[in-house]
Amino acid sequence: MKAVQYRTVGEAPEVVTVDRPEPGPGQVLLKVTAAGVCHSDIAVMSWPAESLPFPLPLTLGHEGAGTVAALGEGVTGFEIGDPVAVYGPWGCGSCLMCAQGKENYCLRAAELGIRPPGLGAPGALAEYMVVDDPRHLVPLGDLDPVTAVPLTDAGLTPYHAIKTSLPKLTPGSTAVVIGTGGLGHVAIQLLRALTPARVIALDVTEEKLDLAREVGAHETVLSDADAAGRVRELTGGLGAQAVFDFVGAPPTVATASACAGVEADVTVVGIGGGAAPVGFGVVPYDAAFRAPYWGSRSELIEVLDLARAGVLDVHVETYPLDRAPEVYERLHAGRVNGRAVLLPHG
Ligand code: NAD
Ligand code: ZN
Ligand code: ZN
Repeated sequence: MKAVQYRTVGEAPEVVTVDRPEPGPGQVLLKVTAAGVCHSDIAVMSWPAESLPFPLPLTLGHEGAGTVAALGEGVTGFEIGDPVAVYGPWGCGSCLMCAQGKENYCLRAAELGIRPPGLGAPGALAEYMVVDDPRHLVPLGDLDPVTAVPLTDAGLTPYHAIKTSLPKLTPGSTAVVIGTGGLGHVAIQLLRALTPARVIALDVTEEKLDLAREVGAHETVLSDADAAGRVRELTGGLGAQAVFDFVGAPPTVATASACAGVEADVTVVGIGGGAAPVGFGVVPYDAAFRAPYWGSRSELIEVLDLARAGVLDVHVETYPLDRAPEVYERLHAGRVNGRAVLLPHG
């Protein structure tokens, strides 16, 4: 079968032919219908060999949807052909965090060598993939797998980030979204669906800001050194109650901090290497800084239910699997609008 692999540190990913995997006991084989391409892969592929936490070659893709193709020994609860989405942040299933469905914060994953598909385990950018346990599958039902697959990360990650801040996003409040790409354009829609907050979106190009307005941002601001000042103006000098940074680079983390009002949540989701100084008198009174990772199993079910309610309009660009190397180049250059989704079977 065809698979997209990161094979050599520092080199571009390649489309290769590998053996079709077999599901072991307790595992499920999926025929991959759709796989989303996340900017985190670009960060991973920029790491030097010594900081790569898994061996190469690696089949990429941590947003996956497919149909059940084969059940490993002992697996029940799914039938061949069932359409499913993959919950990606695999954990041990039994520690204190996993017992709450928060496998993204598994306390034993590192020790046990458990890695997400596409980020250590073979991922979804292939014709078939093995899912380690049926608890990591969520039935898609009638949802279109092509627009639903980004929800497994580009939806779940902002949903998890926003959910914690919901008590602060009361009527009259403001939420700021920095970076309106794959995650950010879903974040705007989640904020509109779940809160009465006014949403201000920041990005570096007019094309991205057009998409931000189209999906529900009330205001858009070009993300430059004056952006936080503009957010203060738009909030009568008070700043925002919640700021979500989907870039996480030093300049955007500085902007995020400077947008924060009293008791604000500043949530850094992007993994761009930025950090914020926090201390009394340095940040507004009682501002809270967070750096969450992905989301829980129950939150993925909630996000898919929100899509079923018809309030999410995920923008996708679709490509055949063969064009994966070009898609990564486009994403790196900031030329993907919404999410790029690869279709391994056309
Ligand atoms: P993306 O490339 O689709 O979107 C990034 C957006 O940020 C683009 O629209 C780009 O134009 C914009 N941008 C770039 N520089 C900017 C700046 N200075 N100011 C404002 N906007 C700017 O990427 P994505 O797949 O949505 O991922 C976003 C970030 O989130 C990445 O860093 C990714 O690694 C990270 N991520 C984190 C988690 C987590 O669990 N914490 C999960 C998924 C992705
Ligand atoms: Zn991701
Ligand atoms: Zn665990």
